[in-house]
Amino acid sequence: MALHLHNTLSRSVEPFMPLDASGKSVGMYCCGPTVHDFAHIGNFRTFVFADLVRRYLEFRGYQVNHVMNITDVEDKIIRRVREQSTTLAEYTAKYTDAFFEDLQTLNCVEPHHIPKATNYIPEMIDLITRLIERGIAYQAPDQSIYFSIEKYQGCGCQYGQLANLNFDEMRQGDRVSEDEYEKECVADFALWKARVPEDGEVYWPSPWGEGRPGWHIECSAMSMKLLGTSFDLHLGGEDLAFPHHEDEIAQSEGAAVQEDGRSFVKYWLHGAHLLVEGKKMSKSLGNFFTLRDLTDQGYNGREIRQLMISAHYRETFNFTLDGLAGARTALNRIHECVTKLRDQAGDTTADPAPQVLEQFTGAMDDNLNVSSAWAAVFDWVRDCNRRLVDGTLDTAGAAAELAAWERIDSVLGVGQADEAAPEALVALMHERTEARAAKDFARADAIRDELSEQGWAIEDTPNGPRLKRS
Ligand code: AMP
Ligand code: ZN
Repeated sequence: MALHLHNTLSRSVEPFMPLDASGKSVGMYCCGPTVHDFAHIGNFRTFVFADLVRRYLEFRGYQVNHVMNITDVEDKIIRRVREQSTTLAEYTAKYTDAFFEDLQTLNCVEPHHIPKATNYIPEMIDLITRLIERGIAYQAPDQSIYFSIEKYQGCGCQYGQLANLNFDEMRQGDRVSEDEYEKECVADFALWKARVPEDGEVYWPSPWGEGRPGWHIECSAMSMKLLGTSFDLHLGGEDLAFPHHEDEIAQSEGAAVQEDGRSFVKYWLHGAHLLVEGKKMSKSLGNFFTLRDLTDQGYNGREIRQLMISAHYRETFNFTLDGLAGARTALNRIHECVTKLRDQAGDTTADPAPQVLEQFTGAMDDNLNVSSAWAAVFDWVRDCNRRLVDGTLDTAGAAAELAAWERIDSVLGVGQADEAAPEALVALMHERTEARAAKDFARADAIRDELSEQGWAIEDTPNGPRLKRS
């Protein structure tokens, strides 16, 4: 089976066929964070989902060009800059840096391009100019530039490709200037917002006077600049489908910059939301977590990542602390099995064992069915453990299973590298072996206690003793 993905545009699961004639290169854009605060674990469910898509495409042999923007100018950010009497650059730098630290904690692969909206203002102005020239955008009495849905539809384009909208209630001239607005509100939206006193020093010059871009135009300009006017995949959380993504389509296709017959984006993928303990996250309910809140409680990034990718991306996911404890147990089981496979394989290398890889690939090809992919991994763990115990897994067999796991983990990204013990402790471990050989058990026990105090335990393996974290 080839890879199939659910496309919000067609509301169905479709075979994935890139636009590239050779079928190899894939352009992928995921709306990045609005850096107004630390990102919460709901945001990270979406970013880990994008990382999973990118890793799986690479596993399938595609050459991915992965773009994720940073929204560093938008309504909420400007409000905070004003409240804290700081500058836009200073304010957003803090949360941008924190975001990248968190992505690393979650073992996400860094996107190839990470454009910041404020570095693409000329591209946004060009796009708006083009929309004005085509008669689809206009300047309103508030001096801001708006996108006319009526004119857009008049050009034969369709507004409402991702969302079902009620046009009966649309009144000509209704406008929204906020970056985020009510679901199904069919109204002209702001492309360029004229400077108002509350914006403080956050403004740029433009042919229409000082102001700043609307949120939606930011993503249209950055994605088309970096991936071309038509590209393969556009991702985000389900709340972005409307109005953000609908407006991105309208602006990008309204500018008519695509080749004949091509749309702005071929596949739209939306990740469902994450709830915490069954409820929408909220500070007042005490169920609002940033990643840092969880790592402060002693969970590591791999455990949090495992839990986030344990369920299908199109299902709302209920994140719980019990679930996190379960993720720890699950990863420990995998880690123990992989450690034993490493001991058995020694330095031998082999091609990946086909069986588990085929099951994993079959599951992931089916619109990234991770639940079945994990089931294949846990069946494999059970099977390897059994074969290690009954002696039916020889060195070459263990190396092949290990190679299969390494391929799978290039997608899941949860494996732990064996932490190397400091040399001084390894020397102590060898001293203990000698002490035991010399029947100096008091010294041997003292060394064991000292190692234990430093957080290391001695494990006997077929290749001799070695240190592992206790
Ligand atoms: P923002 O920084 O608010 O623009 O959001 C960044 C990303 O997180 C977007 O793709 C949102 O759709 C997504 N998102 C926001 N809340 C949640 C949630 N509770 N669960 C999953 N994704 C979310
Ligand atoms: Zn976006």
